[in-house]
Amino acid sequence: MSLLVNEIFYSLQGESTYSGRPCIFIRLTGCNLRCSYCDTRYAYDEGIKLRLPEILDRMNQYRCSLVEVTGGEPLIQKKTPDLVDHLIKKGYDVLMETNGSMDINLVSNQCIRIMDIKCPSSDESDHFCLENLEKLKNSDQVKFVIKNREDYEYAIHMKNRIRKDFPPGHILFSPVSDTLTLSKLAQWIISDNMNVRYNLQLHKTIWPNKDRGV
Ligand code: SF4
Repeated sequence: MSLLVNEIFYSLQGESTYSGRPCIFIRLTGCNLRCSYCDTRYAYDEGIKLRLPEILDRMNQYRCSLVEVTGGEPLIQKKTPDLVDHLIKKGYDVLMETNGSMDINLVSNQCIRIMDIKCPSSDESDHFCLENLEKLKNSDQVKFVIKNREDYEYAIHMKNRIRKDFPPGHILFSPVSDTLTLSKLAQWIISDNMNVRYNLQLHKTIWPNKDRGV
């Protein structure tokens, strides 16, 4: 089994309730979307084919049991569910970032899916797979990256389509920080008494000039 891997690195998780925790990242090559604000364009095509033992070898240099499979869009590679299964069997806690355009149940339900719902400013909001809303487990997380008021209102509209007993702390509203001031989104959430989690892109605050993993 082999996958096309863009990079494997060790850093801090930056965009979920796991934010701040040291984490191994496996960034897989390829994405089916082209978001306007994408900051990982280098992952569209760049990568090398690695077999599972080679991936595990590279991970072994870090003493960490938390791993995130990301991209690009990890689900476009057919072997990603197998990779996730192997990592779970090895005892890792596995997160997977996905853009929500593909069936999230392709991966084991022991994997924690951090699913983006793309807002209008991404130019890719039409590609969201609505059925994924029915497939969310309580441990999963839903993320909205918000660039302006239109995005914010869209996020509220989509949030209202998520089942009512889904944990509100797992619904993440995150500003595109170079466009929407951090305080503006905070004000909107507070004044609307929005039952969600405000989520900063921690890694961008710590390493503002880095465009890829540490
Ligand atoms: S889904 Fe993610 S990797 Fe793909 S284009 Fe959008 S931001 Fe970039």
